[in-house]
Amino acid sequence: MSDRTLPNRSDVWLQTLGWQPTSEQEQQFERLFQQILQANQQLNLTRITDPQDFWEKHLWDSLVGIAPWLPPGSPIPTWLQDLASLSTDLNQAMRVIDIGTGGGFPGLPIAIIKPTWPITLLDSTQKKLTFLEQATADLGLENVEGCCDRAENLGQQSPYRESFDLALVRAVGPASVCAEYALPLLALQGYAVLYRGQWTTEEQEGLKAVASKLGGEVVAVLPVTMPHSPGIRHCIYLRKTQPTDPKFPRRVGVPARKPL
Ligand code: SAM
Repeated sequence: MSDRTLPNRSDVWLQTLGWQPTSEQEQQFERLFQQILQANQQLNLTRITDPQDFWEKHLWDSLVGIAPWLPPGSPIPTWLQDLASLSTDLNQAMRVIDIGTGGGFPGLPIAIIKPTWPITLLDSTQKKLTFLEQATADLGLENVEGCCDRAENLGQQSPYRESFDLALVRAVGPASVCAEYALPLLALQGYAVLYRGQWTTEEQEGLKAVASKLGGEVVAVLPVTMPHSPGIRHCIYLRKTQPTDPKFPRRVGVPARKPL
């Protein structure tokens, strides 16, 4: 184990999300951090290796996206109240896919705190999947399945197409490309969460048009103030309202080359 360990931020979890991890989950976060540090010596998983940055930019940032589905241990913080309507049943086990998961973000922290949610970690790079499979076994997570493929392929394949309740996409490409990867994979009434940095009115208008071509709509935008770093990030919530036209997603590489 390295001499670098994660900070304890129970107070910040509670203040910002109205929730905090159990001590077992804290230990799993720590274990995940150590695994990433070790694997990073051979694989380029992340540039974020400082313990405080890792806590904020990988753990906290991953979990803020599923804030509507966190059990409210204390009153929901005001800044999250607009999202309360998104979660219908907090006890429902959501079937989740993390598209372009890389080193496992946001999927692995979510798998740790939601052991009853089946989570598929999708990435097109086999080396990353090999790491994720080892990490998942080491963390004792039984709810995670790795999948090495392109989102464009999976979105056209049974049993994946139109089968997930929640699709998460962080740092994979422009919002319209992420929407084309995510919406075909969602079941009706499922949600996609796009983790974005800056978010402009222009992007919002563009995404609205793209979402409607794909059978979805933009239902909420959450401006996220990071607990430590300056700047604001955004989580964009899309809901699937109609089946996606079979022509989407287009062939491998086309969504990124010719965004809708
Ligand atoms: N989501 C992680 C995060 O936020 O730390 C990793 C982001 S990394 C910059 C982007 C990842 O997406 C890479 O691991 C890449 O292999 C994967 N990726 C890019 N396009 C993809 C596609 N069309 N299908 C599946 N994986 C893809």
